[in-house]
Amino acid sequence: MLVIDWLFPKNCYGCSKPGEYLCNDCIKKHCSVRWDQTCHVCNRNVSVGSIHIECGAQTYLDGVFCMFVYDGLIKKIVHDVKYNFYHDVFNELGVKMAKFSMILPKFEKLVITSVPLNPKKKNFRGFNQSKILAKKVAKYQGVEYLEILKRTKNTKSQVGMSLVERQTNLKNAFKLTSKEILKNFNNLIIVDDVYTTGSTLNECAKLIKSHNQSMNVYAFTLARAPGGVMD
Ligand SMILES: [Zn+2]
Ligand SMILES: [Zn+2]
Repeated sequence: MLVIDWLFPKNCYGCSKPGEYLCNDCIKKHCSVRWDQTCHVCNRNVSVGSIHIECGAQTYLDGVFCMFVYDGLIKKIVHDVKYNFYHDVFNELGVKMAKFSMILPKFEKLVITSVPLNPKKKNFRGFNQSKILAKKVAKYQGVEYLEILKRTKNTKSQVGMSLVERQTNLKNAFKLTSKEILKNFNNLIIVDDVYTTGSTLNECAKLIKSHNQSMNVYAFTLARAPGGVMD
């Protein structure tokens, strides 16, 4: 037994069984895994890795994949971990997400990145949960994880903001770490923990496409708000 396991025993958030933070039984009983993917614009079913042609004009993202519906147990875990600074849970969730990434189409010249945190938040929390998840997925997919985006300002929390407020908040919030990097790839997946309105991910995709129009940009998140339609 590792010292860390003794100091912080791994127990399932759902049933308290030791060994994992989220056991398979609780996933089956209490979590909705999204085997069927829906279009992030209109929320109708769509084949994995695409959006409806008629929805394409409303978004910069070529597709959004997500593993769980963001409710119940998953919501509790993500919330708890983010505010209790316990990043090891994200290591486990990252492995689960990586295995789930089997459903993704085989992308040629793929690179994986994550949404950067506000610098202030990162200093406070000490880790970026999206990066932890992204690195696990990249390793499993056998592709590179690269930091392609950086924050240029501390944006405010977007909870409760209108679409216009979110757009103002996100304006010029990101920059590329290097424009050169993009030339080596045709497909890019941005990993994040939760997809709510998609404003942040869409803003990242917009920036990337403004430097490389032929890049396909996808989002892959641990969870997505139930029924959420992009506004
Ligand atoms: Zn359990
Ligand atoms: Zn659609």
